[in-house]
Amino acid sequence: MSHNHFNTESVDILVVDDTAENVRLLSTMLTREGYQVRKAINGQLALTAIQARMPDLILLDIMMPDMDGYAVCSRLKGMPQTAEIPVIFLSALDDAFDKVKAFKVGGADYMTKPFHIEEVLARVRHQLALQAAERKNHRLNAQLEQRVIERTQQLEIANAQLLKMALCDSLTQLANRAAFVDCLDKALNELKKQPNLQFAVLFLDCDRFKIVNDSLGHFAGDQLLVAIAQRLKQHLRQIDTLARLGGDEFAILLTQIIDKDSTIQFADQILAAFTEPFTLQDHQVFINASIGIAFGKSDYDKPEHLLRDADTAMYHAKAAGKAQHRIFEATMPRAALQLLQIETDLRRAISQQELSLNYQPIVALDSGKIAGLEALIRWNHPDRGFIPPSTFIPVAEETGLISEIGNWVLKEACHQIRNWQKQGVIDSNFSVSVNLSARQFAQINLMQQITHILAETGLSPNCLKLEVTESAIMDNPSSAADILLKLRQQHIQLSMDDFGTGYSSLSYLQSFPMDYLKIDRSFVMSLDGTEEKLGLVPIIVKIAQTMNMQVVAEGIETPEQLAQLRSLNCDFGQGYFFSRPLTAEKVVELITSRCHW
Ligand code: C2E
Ligand code: MG
Ligand code: MG
Repeated sequence: MSHNHFNTESVDILVVDDTAENVRLLSTMLTREGYQVRKAINGQLALTAIQARMPDLILLDIMMPDMDGYAVCSRLKGMPQTAEIPVIFLSALDDAFDKVKAFKVGGADYMTKPFHIEEVLARVRHQLALQAAERKNHRLNAQLEQRVIERTQQLEIANAQLLKMALCDSLTQLANRAAFVDCLDKALNELKKQPNLQFAVLFLDCDRFKIVNDSLGHFAGDQLLVAIAQRLKQHLRQIDTLARLGGDEFAILLTQIIDKDSTIQFADQILAAFTEPFTLQDHQVFINASIGIAFGKSDYDKPEHLLRDADTAMYHAKAAGKAQHRIFEATMPRAALQLLQIETDLRRAISQQELSLNYQPIVALDSGKIAGLEALIRWNHPDRGFIPPSTFIPVAEETGLISEIGNWVLKEACHQIRNWQKQGVIDSNFSVSVNLSARQFAQINLMQQITHILAETGLSPNCLKLEVTESAIMDNPSSAADILLKLRQQHIQLSMDDFGTGYSSLSYLQSFPMDYLKIDRSFVMSLDGTEEKLGLVPIIVKIAQTMNMQVVAEGIETPEQLAQLRSLNCDFGQGYFFSRPLTAEKVVELITSRCHW
């Protein structure tokens, strides 16, 4: 069987016997079978031969002068390189042969003289086969082990990467929020053990970072963040922790601080460091930061609370005029603060011209042409980006800023329309719709404001439509009736906005006559071309018509909706299907392209 397993020519057998006759006999037998045979006539020479080249098998005579077979075998088994070589002992029948000892010293088998060729070959093949099997086993084991090692390494690398990803900000390579919160947690735990410990959290937010992103692109924005991270690092000690929390927010954990003053000094130092420009690939950029500081206290249960307080303090620093730092005080409530922040920012927005108007076409459904525009306010906040009117109009209302903002919108819209009229972009039937909030509507000097603006711009009053919601009227029905009357006398047109979302009562429309009724988007949305989904739309259209109001459908997004509204004789339509709200420039392009639907 062994013949199948290896090529006998490559098998090297060492025959060790002090009797030359035996050596010759065995050698002849084995050579004939194709084995490579080497010979040694005593133990010492055998060891030398083995050292020169490892045999695959040793046939070893026991009885030899000087060093007997047992001794040779023991030596071989004692050395790791040779321990695995199988040894078959050779003994004469009359030798005092100790089989137990032969196996004890590591022999694999034995043969007694005189040798029978078949027996010798059988035993030799058997040992070689065993050895081959063992080697194969070894190899497989080694491979397996290697694979296990490789897999383990791969796993370790993957784990390390995952851990790194979980705790590291990929852009700046700083700790991320999770890692930072972890550090805070440890610091708070330390504090419980050592109440004298002092540490502080600094929450840093760049002022007007968005401007960089918007004007130089996100790539430059990323570079700037990396540069900021580097600069911050320069000011930290080994024991401090710097993290990027996300966006343009960084946090610093100062441990082992001496007192509050040293922390304030540190914050000053950081702010001073920001007065130097940051050098990006091809730009130099100036950017400021606002810093909020919160000190570690044992009554903080959660690290997040500490971070939140530093964040709150940061907002106060921003509200105080940016490039400043503030220390958190328990009297700084967060919700009110955000309102305060919007208010502060909104005041600035007015003076810094961060507000703008978009215009959304209102299409006459019979002709399919643009008949007017609705002016919609936009606030592009330098740090926070686009803030939707639904967020800031309520704040503006609450703080009274709506009066100023509303006045600006009216003025801007009227100016714009009048200019377009003068430029011949639109004709004199073209109207602009301006939204009035509830509080604006209740404003005593609203009429004066409007009259003034119309006079100033020279816009004809019937080109101006004011949109009010049901709630604006219902909040203050008596003054509403008064104002509506006055507006009518001035020939300013009125639209009932978002009809159906508020009181949904058609009856009060009789006491508050309107020129237009805008069916809220939610009704139009459900139209899908089928009769079943018409809902209240046909009824609203009918009643509006019997009350001499024209109907505007808001939020038309599909051709099916348009077709259905047309078949219901709805007068006007507005929605993404025609156009989204556009900048003044873009809407002029749209109008002059004379597109229609
Ligand atoms: P609104 O007066 O009902 O204005 C229509 C709103 O629906 C706009 O949202 C417009 O962008 C959006 N819209 C138009 N067509 C579609 C459409 O097909 N699909 C969808 N999903 N939406 C559409 P926007 O500009 O966010 O304004 C929201 C609200 O904010 C306005 O509702 C209005 O009540 C108020 N607002 C906007 N500008 C002013 C303003 O200058 N002054 C006052 N007081 N309020 C304003
Ligand atoms: Mg509106
Ligand atoms: Mg509306």
